[in-house]
Amino acid sequence: MAAAKVSEEIEAWCPTCKTTKWQIVVALVDGKPAKLECIGCHRQHGPRRPRAERREAPAPSRAAPPPAVDLDALLAGREGSARPYSPRTTYAPNDVIRHPSFGVGLVVAAPAPQRIEVQFRTAHKMLAHGQDEPARPQLSRPPRRPEVEAPDADDEPRPFTRRRT
Ligand SMILES: [Zn+2]
Repeated sequence: MAAAKVSEEIEAWCPTCKTTKWQIVVALVDGKPAKLECIGCHRQHGPRRPRAERREAPAPSRAAPPPAVDLDALLAGREGSARPYSPRTTYAPNDVIRHPSFGVGLVVAAPAPQRIEVQFRTAHKMLAHGQDEPARPQLSRPPRRPEVEAPDADDEPRPFTRRRT
């Protein structure tokens, strides 16, 4: 244990709270805490060394692993076929894409027509896709009226033109 100082706070076993709590060092003997005051129950007690202080049994509360997505397993062998990301391209769930900023990611969902949810190694992103497609339908084309605008189509007779004989 590192050398302690009076009024320093250390994490130690509290026999009253029956758990590891922050304790204020009240008295020292030979540089080791001889009396502690628990900041949980405010009782003073001598240092105890029950099970909680053993090295091989770390406090379970501090080893909470982050909720990890095993992207490497999902992408195993597929990074080479990653399609470059473009908002104009259309993707489907389970596609592997390569984003210029976020790197390789897996399309996990397409919650809306032009939105995809992508899991990258460092981020989970909602991205646009398929942006080019709505512009394609014939809505934008002006109506054509060939019967009005093309009076001299080749297959029509030309009544006012006479051939010389
Ligand atoms: Zn206590």
